[in-house]
Amino acid sequence: MPTKRLYYDDPYLRDFACQVLRCEPAVRNSHSAPLYEVITDVTAFYPNSGGQPSDRGTMAGADVVDVIERDDDIVHITSTAIPLGPAQGRIDIERRFDHIQQHSGQHILSGAFASLFGMETVGFHLGDEYVTIDLNAPEISHDQWAAAERLACEVVFQNRPVRATFWDRDALSGAIDPSRLRKLPTRTENIRLVDIDGFDLTPCGGTHVRASGEVGLIKITRTERIRGITRVEFVCGRRALADYRWKNQVAYEAAAMLSVHARDLPESVSRLQMQLRDSARQLEHALRDLYEYQAAAMYDGADPAGPSGIRVVSWASTDGHDIGYLKMLAHKICEHPSTVALLGSSNGESAHVVFEKSHDVSIDMAKLLREVLPAVDGKGGGTHQIAQGGGRRPEKLPYAISMAASMISKAAVGIEAETAASADCH
Ligand SMILES: [Zn+2]
Repeated sequence: MPTKRLYYDDPYLRDFACQVLRCEPAVRNSHSAPLYEVITDVTAFYPNSGGQPSDRGTMAGADVVDVIERDDDIVHITSTAIPLGPAQGRIDIERRFDHIQQHSGQHILSGAFASLFGMETVGFHLGDEYVTIDLNAPEISHDQWAAAERLACEVVFQNRPVRATFWDRDALSGAIDPSRLRKLPTRTENIRLVDIDGFDLTPCGGTHVRASGEVGLIKITRTERIRGITRVEFVCGRRALADYRWKNQVAYEAAAMLSVHARDLPESVSRLQMQLRDSARQLEHALRDLYEYQAAAMYDGADPAGPSGIRVVSWASTDGHDIGYLKMLAHKICEHPSTVALLGSSNGESAHVVFEKSHDVSIDMAKLLREVLPAVDGKGGGTHQIAQGGGRRPEKLPYAISMAASMISKAAVGIEAETAASADCH
């Protein structure tokens, strides 16, 4: 005997009495908790089918964690075993009502796209947050979706009765003109037609409202083109209210932050973006001037030339400048001939260093950096021309910089000789 489906007659039925006919352990992989398959004579539980998710609830006190259809049986997946015989079932009616609102809303919205534009619904998904239909149209315009949404809401406001009837194919073809059906049935018997009084007639086994007003608001939230079809995302009833609530809150808060009306938000944000771009441009100019000014001051303040004939500009800041800032400065300073920039900055936790030289100096910056990095417990590298690194002992930064400076002035000749020697080997 197939399971008798009580939700066909009363989709709002929450509590029901049934007979448990079978309860067997479900086949699971060894890691998951044990589950049981329960079959009853009658049930109000809706199984996963036709795009509508299954119900949740309890059966004889055991949690029903899923419901599936197997041939004509409805199989309740429960968390514990339950005894055979009489039992009480209770479905989570909040979840069911949500599915009812979304599913009936889908019929109405699909009906609106079909009647206005001849667009056929080729897919339906009822997710936890959003509901989607796929329309067989490569794209839809904003005007089209606004018109379909408007018509769908009008059908809700008209509070049309919704009825479901069963047919077999012969009786159906004699009684109803197939052009009235939005979709042709795939079965030959037990064809269930859901009729939203005079507006939409389509075969469906799902749970539906008693009258269209129960659907509440139908709101399209976005559309997306996917390989020749258009996916329309929408929400109905309580979901639409929740969606409106957070969007209203976001708009209200953003408008308050900008001291404008919510309607003026796009214009205000675009004005802000423009101002931000202008400010960024001005900041860039000001920074460039600042680098040049600071680099010139640092160069002028350094000893014109040590014993090596090289002007060494050394600087250990505690202002926490980033490596980009140090590199810009070093680059500017080293536009002067016979110059080496040894720049470092620390922020109390770490230190950055950049060593750079002008093109006419033959000291190897990467090698020099390697010599002093251990002083700041650091790592880094680079080229003959420019090297950079970071260290975990910022308090040693001034020492590391002065060590590098004295290596240049005292041993520059040695480093140059070594570099020249290695060059000779080539
Ligand atoms: Zn349906």
